[in-house]
Amino acid sequence: MRTVVIDELRHFKDAESTEMPKAGGKWVTIKTKYCAICGSDNMFWNGFGGMGFTPGHEFSGYIEDPGEYGFTKGQRVLAAEFNSCGECEFCKSGREQLCAQMMVDNPGVSAPGAYGPYVRVRGDYVIPMPDDMPMQLGAIVEPVAVSLHGVRYLGLKPGEDVLVSGNGPIGIYAAATAKLLGAGKVIMTGRSLSRTEFCNTFDFVDECISVKEPDYEEKLKALTPEGGFRHIIDCVGVDDYDGLIALASSGATIVMLGMHSPRASFSTQALYFKELSIKSGLYFSWADYKKAFEMVRDNQGMFLSTITSIIPDDAESIQAAFVKLFASGTNDECKIVIEHED
Ligand SMILES: [Zn+2]
Ligand SMILES: [Zn+2]
Repeated sequence: MRTVVIDELRHFKDAESTEMPKAGGKWVTIKTKYCAICGSDNMFWNGFGGMGFTPGHEFSGYIEDPGEYGFTKGQRVLAAEFNSCGECEFCKSGREQLCAQMMVDNPGVSAPGAYGPYVRVRGDYVIPMPDDMPMQLGAIVEPVAVSLHGVRYLGLKPGEDVLVSGNGPIGIYAAATAKLLGAGKVIMTGRSLSRTEFCNTFDFVDECISVKEPDYEEKLKALTPEGGFRHIIDCVGVDDYDGLIALASSGATIVMLGMHSPRASFSTQALYFKELSIKSGLYFSWADYKKAFEMVRDNQGMFLSTITSIIPDDAESIQAAFVKLFASGTNDECKIVIEHED
């Protein structure tokens, strides 16, 4: 069967695979239908994971082999790429993302992923999709869960304003989930002017402004609540935290979400006098994933509008998408989703 692999640095190739993943024990197999391209897949494209790897950890598909679980062949499902142990202190307290076993045999991370035709997933992390839910939406529940995880760490109370720094997919899903959790104004900042324009088309974004706008500083000042933002979520990985800290109110929480720049600098004085909390968000918990699924299921139009392209599953198309997203510098896409033929 045909699959795609990274055969050299920053290059995808169509390849033949004889290895059909096997169900049984805790595993079921899924015939993949949609797989979204994630910013972290860029790491694999740059060699992390080695040559011959097939990425793809944001997916939906059909049950191929239910193994020991009660699913039926052909059933429409989505699944978290989890492989947590269920036994450790983290698993037992609902923080599966911290489990030492999480990254082992994890599809699209340390096992063949959903850019290829089949994935093997844990049966206990599979969710059947309702008939009225378009299958491409199943592929974006994972990044929505990542954003929701970070937003939950904000400890948001209904009506409170949120500043989202960064308007890529994770920032956009942070804005969406914050609004669905009852946020007041959701203000976003970003770089690309076209992406900023795109974000301003969403009902869940009150205003998105680009740092490239000449009157950026004044605009941001006008949008900042009296005393500063109580909740800030950084989805871009800025290395200058002083800028974010200056926008924070006393007692505020700043959540760093996603893979960050290796170093960040900030004034400890400002942190001290404002008594700020800075927290990082890794991955998501199973509870976050289930909640993200419900949010996407119940707000389909809102999330469908974040999928900007659907592309075929051949190496050439995927390569072109990666160049556009990660190497062109002029990316105006949000989520690009790979479609496998039925
Ligand atoms: Zn991802
Ligand atoms: Zn565990």
